[in-house]
Amino acid sequence: MADRNNRGRGLTDAQAQALTDAAAAAQRYREDLPDAPARPTVDLDSAVAKFLTGMPETGSPEDEVIAHIIRDAEGAIHSMARPSFYGYVLGGSHPVGVAADFLVSAWGQNAGSSFETPAVTGMERAVCDWVIDLLSLPPESGAGLVTGGTVANMVGIMSARHALLAARGWDVEADGLFGAPEFPILIGADAHSAPFAALRYAGLGAARAKRVATDAEGRIKPAALEKALADCDAPPLVVLQAGQINTGAFDPFAELIPLVREKKGWVHVDGAFGLWLAAVPDLRDRLAHVGDADSWAVDLHKWLNAPFDAGMVIVRDRAPLVASMSARGAYLPDTTAHWEPSDSTPELSRRARGIPSYAILRHLGRAGVRELVARHCRLAARIAAKVSAHPGISVLNEIHSNQVAIACGDGPDGDDLTMRVLHRVQDRGKVYPTHGEWAGRKIIRVSVIGYAMQDEDADLLASEIIGAYDVCVNDPA
Ligand SMILES: *Cc1c(COP(=O)(O)O)cnc(C)c1O
Repeated sequence: MADRNNRGRGLTDAQAQALTDAAAAAQRYREDLPDAPARPTVDLDSAVAKFLTGMPETGSPEDEVIAHIIRDAEGAIHSMARPSFYGYVLGGSHPVGVAADFLVSAWGQNAGSSFETPAVTGMERAVCDWVIDLLSLPPESGAGLVTGGTVANMVGIMSARHALLAARGWDVEADGLFGAPEFPILIGADAHSAPFAALRYAGLGAARAKRVATDAEGRIKPAALEKALADCDAPPLVVLQAGQINTGAFDPFAELIPLVREKKGWVHVDGAFGLWLAAVPDLRDRLAHVGDADSWAVDLHKWLNAPFDAGMVIVRDRAPLVASMSARGAYLPDTTAHWEPSDSTPELSRRARGIPSYAILRHLGRAGVRELVARHCRLAARIAAKVSAHPGISVLNEIHSNQVAIACGDGPDGDDLTMRVLHRVQDRGKVYPTHGEWAGRKIIRVSVIGYAMQDEDADLLASEIIGAYDVCVNDPA
């Protein structure tokens, strides 16, 4: 056995082996993924029991720890990176991003400070500039690389909180919210849960937000917003949405944003996945004028397919972003000479989470991003056409982007059938959509977002749903 404490090198043999084995296992995992089941074959309790042992009294060599993780995770990893996963709205962790992510950990940079991390700063600044450019947002905007859509919404809403209260002579960072002037908050009736969580985290209260009526696709009705704004006695925070979770629809920004402007309000857009349609010239009209808002939340681990822990907040005026996030107190450095990452995120110390996104953007280029988003929208329409052509299966939404809301049968009996079809599809282990609720019905919700999804994957999903429907409808057990 080689010397486990070889001080002549930066790594002991066991440490070097651990790194090599992890990389080899990662590669093997992704190579074998096409033949793996779509869902884990090991149940939750058995999987947990492998790891949730008593705290070990004595340690183990590094390579043995990695071998244990690889061995005991076997069968209990969900194939979310495979183009058979249609659940929630999850990217597929693009391999070039995964490879870059290895380096993020290996380099061990604290990306919270630009002064000591020059290479990381270069890559993360590029991600901010490139994403703002791809999404056609104002180039002078401030940006923060955060963990995901929820935190991006939180930071955008906290920037709004700063600006709306500062305009009324209140310093929320110094004096908090007790005794502060109140401002109204308006949000669409079909908004995602994340902005509500963000309102809670920002101390603004989720239940205080007034829900504005939406149409059959979940879009805010301009007349309803106009009426709600007429009742506002102070400049409001208005939360709009680019990409409704069930329908993929977009609020009509061109009509809504000018109404908020008249009231001197702040417009925040939750665009976790939907904002990416702005990168496609042919699809951009669907969210025309989204760039007129004040702040935007977008995920990088959804449509960009970055490995998890990747989101971005973008704020038109960088000052409220820095004022609300900087741990050093309200101050505004020169934006070009100083890009202090920790001034635009809640974290001080953090991993260089922008690097995987940098690698993916380098790999895809503008043309690749465009192709990816356009392909997924095309595949969503393809799936919708195939399943809705089958008698007894209907698609409840128009295809605005990449989301398909599928229901079986009619009415409440249909709900039971829809869930049986979904579970049969999941149990067969070839594809994995998840559930949702839309228009008062239970649905099979399909999100086309994994980087590797192609026509044949979409066709397999459609035939699995149709096949399961045919079995379930003839077997009303
Ligand atoms: C996924 C999603 C979020 C939350 O993003 P996380 O990255 O999961 O925190 C917010 N809004 C919408 C519309 C989403 O689809």
